[in-house]
Amino acid sequence: MSMFEDIPVDVGIIYEGERIRGRDMQFELGGPREEYKFELVQAKDLDEIEDGKIEIIGKDISELEAGKNTPFGMIIYVAGEEMEKDLEGVVERRLHEYVNFIEGFMHLNQRYDVQMRLSKKSFEKGFNSFKLFAEVLMRLYRSEMSFIEKIQITFITEPKLVEEWFGKAMEIYEERDARARGMSDDEVDVFYGCSLCQSFAPTHLCVITPQRYANCGAISWFDGRASAKVDPKGPVFEIPTGDLIDSVTGEYAGVNQVIKEKSLGEIERVQLYTAFGYPHTSCGCFEGCLFYIPEMDGYGVVHRNFKGETVNGLNFVTISDLTAGGRQVDGFHGLSIEYMRSPKFMQADGGWDRVVWIPVDIKERIKSFMPPEIVDKIATDEDVTDLDGLRAFLQEQDHPIVSRWTAAPKEEPGEIAVPTLELPASAFPIQGVPAGMGFRIILKNAKIRAEKMIIKADKG
Ligand code: SF4
Repeated sequence: MSMFEDIPVDVGIIYEGERIRGRDMQFELGGPREEYKFELVQAKDLDEIEDGKIEIIGKDISELEAGKNTPFGMIIYVAGEEMEKDLEGVVERRLHEYVNFIEGFMHLNQRYDVQMRLSKKSFEKGFNSFKLFAEVLMRLYRSEMSFIEKIQITFITEPKLVEEWFGKAMEIYEERDARARGMSDDEVDVFYGCSLCQSFAPTHLCVITPQRYANCGAISWFDGRASAKVDPKGPVFEIPTGDLIDSVTGEYAGVNQVIKEKSLGEIERVQLYTAFGYPHTSCGCFEGCLFYIPEMDGYGVVHRNFKGETVNGLNFVTISDLTAGGRQVDGFHGLSIEYMRSPKFMQADGGWDRVVWIPVDIKERIKSFMPPEIVDKIATDEDVTDLDGLRAFLQEQDHPIVSRWTAAPKEEPGEIAVPTLELPASAFPIQGVPAGMGFRIILKNAKIRAEKMIIKADKG
């Protein structure tokens, strides 16, 4: 007998990766149109939890307006003899997998970025209460994470309370993130790998180090350590670093070996602190994207909640499509906000001296971790709106990137005629077509105008 026989929809791994489009959704919980949304796991003592208790504050699923989005908060309280604070982040991140197991339920992103959709079809089948949602999650947690002995879940859709709890959740995330600060990658001989996102990006593996937080911003090195200890067969595991191949780019023999195995030979090398050559892969859950701006020879960074266009005219979705899919794409790099607080942040590419544009709200969040002399030299969306404005701003502020422009010899653009040019689909984002789909683009009688041609050895 299935453990979900009394649930009106099916539950299983086959539903992972299912996409619910806007026209097919019954409603959306959180998502980019809602300012306040969160998912939070809190470890408690065994006697503080009423096992199996489900609380709904605000409207239940059946009362939510069809086709609309709503503010949303979910707090999961867990307890167990082996449960420790360091496991909260890992238990929380497992929601991504478990919610996606539910037929017609889609979960994207994490923490304060969370977005969930229920399909009309599953709603019509009878999945009409958060109680059913909680039942599925509780059973999955108990069966897959044996260190959870008691579990209790609270859902909040009452807007004022979601907002209030959002503030508390942000403080809790910050406390968690702060724990690994001050530790160095150079002082440990074990990193942690997370393969949870391989159901969406089969060649992706996050390498979690003290100074390079997981791309989703939800799992620190400490969280990885706690998880690998209590759940050794889970998706988070130890990676002995092995020989240090290059301390500037952050290349380790142990990491390369594991990444090759886990990507089934697709990815052979990873350098942790660069966006060129052999960058860390990006699944799709990253908190932000770093993108190369060739006109400036510098980087921009955009985060998921950034509305509108970045300084080069692309929005987050387009940049994200160029980056995602478990690939190594030169100049496009998924990252967590916490990694931007790290002294190793893009170390091989020049670190903060190479960053020329970031949204103002990211700058506010991290500026105390940036080298003080660079803070005012990096433009934000409040300072400039296009590349001409950016160039002028950088010159006016005497940004270190300006010295790179004068150092590079100016080359005259050349033009070559190409009878047939075949490119992988990843070379161009196409609206509505997911990254990583297996097709190629063929240009006939193309003319290429380029300022520079770079020939690189084939990684394959
Ligand atoms: S983004 Fe990375 S660390 Fe986060 S769940 Fe996915 S694979 Fe794991």
